[in-house]
Amino acid sequence: MAMNMRTSSLIPAGLVVESITETEAEIVVLARAAEPERLCPLCGIRSRRIHSRYLRTVSDLPCAGRRVELRLMARRFVCDAPFCRRKIFGERFGDGVVAERSRRSSRLECIVHHLGVALGGRPAASLARRLMVPVSNDTLLRVVRRRARQPTEILKVVGIDDWA
Ligand SMILES: [Zn+2]
Repeated sequence: MAMNMRTSSLIPAGLVVESITETEAEIVVLARAAEPERLCPLCGIRSRRIHSRYLRTVSDLPCAGRRVELRLMARRFVCDAPFCRRKIFGERFGDGVVAERSRRSSRLECIVHHLGVALGGRPAASLARRLMVPVSNDTLLRVVRRRARQPTEILKVVGIDDWA
């Protein structure tokens, strides 16, 4: 059976792959957002006027025993709304891809959180290392604490353990 898989299906949705560089230990994916425009976070008006670009480095889920690093070509947009106080804003990729200022993709952050909750700091960090997940003991604890403070996650499935 022929396998036909696009590289873009391996990285978080909404991103377009520009190039992939592989070494024995690491896969570096240069990517950008597919969206040509973004909403100003202050006034909500769309902008496609690009002020500048910068690279944002984010760790993603490991692949076939190698670390994966996303280099996101992020854009700064100009907000043209005359009443808006925000003249320039940095692009956000959406919380499903990577949260603002996070150095891990959302799906990697989710794995880190589950490891931290299940095993605690040091054992989780040791398993994470074996899984090629680049995260320290302190970071694991920080992720667990940060998520514990977010009561906004919607409860989708209630398991038997939740009643115990
Ligand atoms: Zn604005």
